[in-house]
Amino acid sequence: MRADAHDEILPMSEIPYTLVVIFILLSVWFAWRYFELKKRLNQYARFIASKTDPPKTFKDFETTHAAVSSLQNAFSAERAALNAENARLATVLAQLTDGVIIADAEGRVQLANPAAHGIFGIHNATHQSVAQVVRNHRLIEAWRRGQQTRQIVVEAVEIPNRKQILQMTVIPDEHEGGSLLLAQDLTQVRKLEMVRRDFISNVSHELRTPLASLKALTETLQNGALSDPDAGPRFLDRIHTEIDALTQMTQELLDLSRIESGQVQLNFENISPRKLVYSAADRMKAQAERANLKLNVKSEDGLPNLQADKGRLEQVLVNLIHNAVKFTKPGGQICLSVEAENGGVRFAVQDTGIGIPPESLSRIFERFYRVDSSRTGSGTGLGLSISKHIVEAHGGRIWAESEEGRGSTFYFLLPH
Ligand code: ADP
Repeated sequence: MRADAHDEILPMSEIPYTLVVIFILLSVWFAWRYFELKKRLNQYARFIASKTDPPKTFKDFETTHAAVSSLQNAFSAERAALNAENARLATVLAQLTDGVIIADAEGRVQLANPAAHGIFGIHNATHQSVAQVVRNHRLIEAWRRGQQTRQIVVEAVEIPNRKQILQMTVIPDEHEGGSLLLAQDLTQVRKLEMVRRDFISNVSHELRTPLASLKALTETLQNGALSDPDAGPRFLDRIHTEIDALTQMTQELLDLSRIESGQVQLNFENISPRKLVYSAADRMKAQAERANLKLNVKSEDGLPNLQADKGRLEQVLVNLIHNAVKFTKPGGQICLSVEAENGGVRFAVQDTGIGIPPESLSRIFERFYRVDSSRTGSGTGLGLSISKHIVEAHGGRIWAESEEGRGSTFYFLLPH
């Protein structure tokens, strides 16, 4: 029994040793916890030292640590929200097509978005002066006025060497004494306004000529020519011609406006380029013969079919052949051809006509552009513009080569 009881009790020499180890481990753990807490608390001491009593007991430390931890979580959440907000703002500024510059009270640029760099043609605007960035005395003056008056100032200038029209809005910052500069590139807008103005003046001009002729012809008829068996029918014929020209022009204008505004639906179908050129040539054969011109057609064998609007492409070919007939003297030749080229199919209408001067070659596809209206008499200057739109709507390209006095070739290339 004694021996048993004795067996269950730890030897006296081992008890203090185990206690010492446990005690040391606990001390180390408490010390580690203490220093760990103290270290963390030191980090936040700056924030709370002035507002709370310093912790005295271990429980105080635990409570304070919990409070500081939740404070830290709140800070982290706040910081994350702020970062997300900043990222959103940076994205908006980066995507903005208008230039945004933020300058301090001394005119040092604090922030400039990519559009501002592009508009003012500079690399890095930050820390430069407003004057160094905008490089235009009127814009600099506008910024100064905004700074002095603390009022919004708007200034638009034309910068000839950069072919730019810029508008800058200076918005003073009420709190910091600096300003926000908003820069807009109005070059394209002004260009469109000019095109619209030109278009209206061209249309009125084009309408005035046939209307004036119609007025003169009807007045002549009213003044007695109507009863003249010779002059009467002649004047009526001319009236008829003028009305035809007016009808053609209004039809072309309508066509152009529909194509430009994307209202014309192209009916894509599988078409044979060879059939297309023969069909267009057939339609124009009689007109060419009447003008004493030879119309030839050449088509490569084995051309790939195209996905295209047959009616519209035939309209392009007819326009080109019509011009070739109009600008080629009797006895001349017109050759219509089609061949495979550069992953597409290239159509060509070649004539031996009067040709186009080099300075006009790049302009003939513009609306109403005519090289010299006196050399043709009829024509609105809209045909090539319409053709260009149709070709481009097919993903293709149209161009012309010409030599004055020798003839012209109009090409268009369509992808297949
Ligand atoms: P238009 O109705 O005046 O023919 P287009 O737009 O078809 O209008 O052509 C614009 C101008 O391009 C013509 O007025 C003419 O001066 C010039 N042009 C077009 N095709 C030819 C050609 N084959 N030969 C010479 N000049 C041409």
